[in-house]
Amino acid sequence: MLQTKNLTKTYGKYKAADNVNLTVESGEIGILLGPNGAGKSTVIKSIAGLLRYKGEVLIEGMDAKSIEAKKIFAYVPELPAMYEALTVREHIEFIIKAYKLSVSEEEIGELFERFELSDKQDKLGNELSKGMMQKVSICCALIIKPKVIMLDEPMVGLDPAAIKELKKVILEMKEAGTTILISTHMLEMVKELWDVMFVMDKGNIVASYKKSDVKDEDLEDLFFHVTDFEKV
Ligand code: ATP
Repeated sequence: MLQTKNLTKTYGKYKAADNVNLTVESGEIGILLGPNGAGKSTVIKSIAGLLRYKGEVLIEGMDAKSIEAKKIFAYVPELPAMYEALTVREHIEFIIKAYKLSVSEEEIGELFERFELSDKQDKLGNELSKGMMQKVSICCALIIKPKVIMLDEPMVGLDPAAIKELKKVILEMKEAGTTILISTHMLEMVKELWDVMFVMDKGNIVASYKKSDVKDEDLEDLFFHVTDFEKV
């Protein structure tokens, strides 16, 4: 389970996140939506521990800043950060060592296969395209088999095959009871994935919906209904 309690982040006098309360249960896929500047990145970066904030962030009930929480939490940032001097393979090995994981050769091979990285294993971080970097970043998150995973605009830059694979992986993780939070603008890409949706605007969560409550209602309609946006 992933939970924020009264998460507040101020820049000067401006509240980029204003008492944000959200909960994504285990085995659920949460979607964080909102127009530009709504505060999504602020919330995502606070949860990931990249910003100082007021309030609480809980990972499986544990303070997100604790080592126990960090061990079971994975984050795929919007812009993948690569180590220039490490190969694709070494990125995965680095994560395995840092998290003291026991991962078989087969598992690594399968993951690379799924994201068409098998023949890129010896390429250096700075020799990769943006999409390839994104795939490596996703593999680094998946290899730790997180209980809670957060993905920021994960589909941007991915080719159609990788998007299809990522959606499959996300649904498999959900089936396995993983808590998943995805921040995105690409409503079309997540419409068959979501269980709970949070719409942010001006630092607040202005609406949240459960898929089970809204049934077949259009994701776009729900989004435009609660934001200042005009549907074109
Ligand atoms: P987008 O969809 O455009 O990425 P977002 O919902 O992720 O937007 P944030 O990046 O969280 O929005 O920004 C929320 C608000 O906080 C914006 O008004 C932004 O100008 C402000 N903000 C973000 N970072 C800073 C900063 N470092 N200093 C001052 N204000 C900031």
